[in-house]
Amino acid sequence: MSALSTARVIDGVAVAASLRAQIKDRVAELAFHPGLAVVLVGDNAASAVYVRNKDRAAIGAGLRVETVRLSADISQNDLLAQVERLNADPDVDGILVQLPLPPHIAARAVIEAIDPAKDVDGFHPINIGRLQDGRAALAPCTPSGIMKLLAASGTDTVGAHAVVLGRSAIVGRPAAALLLAADATVTIAHSRTRDLPAECRRADILVAAVGRPEFVRGDWIKPGAVIIDVGINRLADGRLVGDVHFDECRGVASAITPVPGGVGPMTIACLLDNTVTAAIARRGRT
Ligand code: NAP
Repeated sequence: MSALSTARVIDGVAVAASLRAQIKDRVAELAFHPGLAVVLVGDNAASAVYVRNKDRAAIGAGLRVETVRLSADISQNDLLAQVERLNADPDVDGILVQLPLPPHIAARAVIEAIDPAKDVDGFHPINIGRLQDGRAALAPCTPSGIMKLLAASGTDTVGAHAVVLGRSAIVGRPAAALLLAADATVTIAHSRTRDLPAECRRADILVAAVGRPEFVRGDWIKPGAVIIDVGINRLADGRLVGDVHFDECRGVASAITPVPGGVGPMTIACLLDNTVTAAIARRGRT
């Protein structure tokens, strides 16, 4: 297998920039600025960086952003009261509670308190149910980004065999539901799957979301497959790599997302997209 291969690299930075530009145009046509509220509990450094990036991207697209910073020792009841306040605020169209939350708070209870019409993360059980029913309006952002990358790369999902590696609530399961809604034949693989390489070799579209660096090897790939690598793993030497061994797999695939610069940039763009969708659904365009 040659590392000098021909797989097209799907440029998530460019696709995300184009999506953000479309969102900005959509917002410019509205008579109001959609509002996104981001709730950040505690001082998790990674969360603070994500929240700052979200704020910047949202403002750049013409959204209003309210960042609610709360102390790590806030009680669950006080946090729920904040969510209720944002639910009742007519200027807030989307609410995102940054995860993880401190251990004394039940994240599920907080997510379930968010008005499903404002649940721009798509994690509320009502939105999960709609997604499984094939009629999601607010789908989780990373899986939505995966679908937009497939579309931008000209990948036909209809009748394709998609293998989703990973079954988490935030990536694997919703990605599988969106692929099914897009008429792919879907296999979900996980840590108990027998013969993972053989399952992956059946994939026309392989979505890897396992959280293990360079886990998917070149000889797991069907020639010509399209690979979407969701993984973000920091190696001991500081390098950032995906869940797919990029150099090996690009020798076999027809298209592949890089890490960084693939799925990552799409997630925030899809959050903005969901916020505008939620705003229009609640308020119309005027
Ligand atoms: P997660 O909740 O840890 O789920 C990982 C999944 O992979 C689980 O379903 C697990 O199976 C499966 N798995 C783990 N080890 C395996 C093995 N040896 N063989 C087969 N399956 C295995 O992770 P996640 O939240 O879905 O995230 C996955 C990756 O995507 C991470 O690298 C994360 O950083 C990244 N991510 C990126 C973005 C983005 O914006 N680009 C967003 C979210 C996540 P079981 O269910 O059987 O345990």
